[in-house]
Amino acid sequence: MPTDYPIDYLRDILNSRVYEIARETRLHQTRILSDRLGNHIWLKREDEQPIFCYKIRGAHNKMSSLSPEEIKRGVVVASAGNHAQGVALSAKKLGCHAIVVMPVTTPSVKIEAVKRWGATVELVGDSFSEANAYAEIISQEQHKTLIKPFDDRLIIAGQGTVGLEILKQHPGPISAIFVPIGGGGLISGLATYVKQIRPQVKVIGVEPFESDAMYQSLRANKRVILKQVGIFADGVAVKQVGKENFRLCRDFVDEVVRVSTDEICAAVKDICEDTRTLMEPSGALGVAGIKRWLMDQEANGTKVSGEHLIAIASGANVNFDRLRHISERAEIGERREAILAVTIPEKPGSFRRFCKAIGNRSVSEFNYRYANDADAHIFVGVMVRNQDEIDGLIKRLEKKVSRPWI
Ligand SMILES: *Cc1c(COP(=O)(O)O)cnc(C)c1O
Repeated sequence: MPTDYPIDYLRDILNSRVYEIARETRLHQTRILSDRLGNHIWLKREDEQPIFCYKIRGAHNKMSSLSPEEIKRGVVVASAGNHAQGVALSAKKLGCHAIVVMPVTTPSVKIEAVKRWGATVELVGDSFSEANAYAEIISQEQHKTLIKPFDDRLIIAGQGTVGLEILKQHPGPISAIFVPIGGGGLISGLATYVKQIRPQVKVIGVEPFESDAMYQSLRANKRVILKQVGIFADGVAVKQVGKENFRLCRDFVDEVVRVSTDEICAAVKDICEDTRTLMEPSGALGVAGIKRWLMDQEANGTKVSGEHLIAIASGANVNFDRLRHISERAEIGERREAILAVTIPEKPGSFRRFCKAIGNRSVSEFNYRYANDADAHIFVGVMVRNQDEIDGLIKRLEKKVSRPWI
């Protein structure tokens, strides 16, 4: 373990100014999810913050460090949404004007919330990186302090208070804490604290496959810039992780697991069943990560049971109308619905063989299309119980009918 800098981080975390606005959130023991997964699954309920996300911690710690002169000149911030809300709320408390630059793809709940706290909003670019470049120009031209979302010592320290609260709230053994990663602000603060106080607790990062900048960077042992990021989990859609965040993660993070969009949707549903609360996709990453990690462990022959696993439920700022999409895909993520595309010979009897192969399963979606004299395409949704059943079904279709191409 490195010996020079982390002690200072502990001091910064313990001294951080957070609780003037942020609250100590609950560590919530799930019932349904714990039963289903055979482990004690806990949620750190950061959706209980006044901005429905942990970002207020780092934002207020940073804002509180500004001089009266800097407060008077105002601040500018680039953010995919939640950091902006933190800065806007803190600025309001401190009597400071904030300009917020967000990508045009930002969900409207996040834009409206920022406006409600009295900040000026500018929508620029398709990604955080473009919004950030514009914020840097404003900062220089108008002499406003730029409040960075993750690559900042005081932001990292503020987010680190999540780790501090968890260890205080859960004095018993903890196997692992699962933490969503965007630029690495939350996990670098949390891991730096947890690994020095209770090194036996694993800190495991979680990223979507389509925005896995930290996973790629740790593998390459340098900060990788992703060419493209998927924005389904908009709270963590970052092309490059922070410099300081990467340095800390390299030393303190045990591993990073990656999850699919469908698995994220299934986790949103799991959390909703246990808490009756609707997380945003990024907010459900921790739970999706636990499920994926347990599956990976089992595939490697290690059955994990009866352990205490904690997921950070990081935020709940989601547009209500996205719920339709999320609930549809949750079934797929749970491996309860398999969507298959099958090519069958266009001749009598082959459709009957197809139906026989499907058996008495419920069909949730069906489309038959004549392709040419030789083939027809079938697109079918089938309700299943698990991945084994999907694999078995695909094998049977291959043998009896033709080759499915999904
Ligand atoms: C910002 C954010 C994250 C993680 O971002 P970091 O830059 O890694 O701290 C995770 N979940 C939500 C909801 C967020 O807003």
